[in-house]
Amino acid sequence: TASHTTPLIELAKKHVLHTAIRPDIVMARGEGMMLYDTEGRGYLDFIGGWAVNSLGHSPAVLQEALAEQASKLVLASPAFFNEPQIQFAELLTSISGMDKVFFTSTGAEANESAVKLARKHGALNLNGAYEIITLTNSFHGRTLAMMSATGKAQWKPLFAPKVDGFVHVPINDLDACFAAVTNQTCAIMVELVQGEGGVHPVSEAYLYGLRKICDMYGILLIFDEIQTGLGRTGKMFAYQHYGIGPDIMTLGKGIGGGFPLSAMLTKEQYDLFQPGDQGGTYIGQPLAMAAGLAVVRELLRLDLADHAYKQGQYLIEGLQRLSASLPISNVRGLGLLLAFDVPDAPALVVKCREKGLLVNATNAHTIRLMPALIVQHSHIDAMLDILQEVLQAS
Ligand code: PLP
Repeated sequence: TASHTTPLIELAKKHVLHTAIRPDIVMARGEGMMLYDTEGRGYLDFIGGWAVNSLGHSPAVLQEALAEQASKLVLASPAFFNEPQIQFAELLTSISGMDKVFFTSTGAEANESAVKLARKHGALNLNGAYEIITLTNSFHGRTLAMMSATGKAQWKPLFAPKVDGFVHVPINDLDACFAAVTNQTCAIMVELVQGEGGVHPVSEAYLYGLRKICDMYGILLIFDEIQTGLGRTGKMFAYQHYGIGPDIMTLGKGIGGGFPLSAMLTKEQYDLFQPGDQGGTYIGQPLAMAAGLAVVRELLRLDLADHAYKQGQYLIEGLQRLSASLPISNVRGLGLLLAFDVPDAPALVVKCREKGLLVNATNAHTIRLMPALIVQHSHIDAMLDILQEVLQAS
């Protein structure tokens, strides 16, 4: 009832830091493609926890894996191995083309680990080179170093001094990247599809060129697949669309299906960390490992990468149909990481939500769609109906 939600919102406004623009809604429950608030209102979820709820909300396999692991072992400190950690490391390396994995909890932490590994490579093998080239309009996280890695112009004057050693170049401009490489460069780090930046893929020629530059100078190519990995783009890893592999890859978001989990993977030859170089209290935490293992096994069992590709095609066709008569343009993306432009994206988000549909605005004009990979035609049809209704009325 309203009397239950109103005091909760008042408490939230009093005690929760205002780090996100949030409506006066308290989410209480989720099931599959649906979220329910404390008023019992249902929402068809095309935000998917920002590409996190890969199997939908509260999938049975995740519930069971967490309950079973919680009854056996929650944590024994990172000073010991645990079974799900070893099984998960084997599974992830076997499907990714990488050899070794370091487990973390958030995307930013996985990227920090990647940057530290690249800098250690620079220190040991490249005469102390430490600079990392990243892309304008990229997003790599919100720790101090990742804010410096991220190519967001609006962060520049804030939180000074920034972490030294990050150089930004525009996406898909190979000459600019080539010009930015110096004897101080130890790595190039890219998202294969810029997610937060508005769903912009790197071109095949560009990625091929980056690989060539890295091989030529012995510098590392890092793929931030935190948003694009684990089936999101219609392949298990977005780099498989290109046939060009990384030296270091980071994963997050969809890997835990909602449980905080991320990972940095690398090749045998860059197994450079010594004990103490990198670590943390929750590295390889058994509950997270059990969650990841269950989620990735289910993604593979149901071949959800392929399903995501097909559903993505269906969604793109539907959006293109609407764009013939409604103010939708630039329908784009890969698999189920999609976007389109509208005159006023934040206003559209609010109007859709009032009709029971959740979508995300990445900027003033761009709507981004990241539904769970289990989405079916029926959900997409329902989503397109609401979108059409809202756009026709505005
Ligand atoms: N890298 C990419 C490509 C992302 O999309 C994100 C999150 O949106 C991150 C890194 C940071 O992940 P987290 O918010 O879990 O630290």
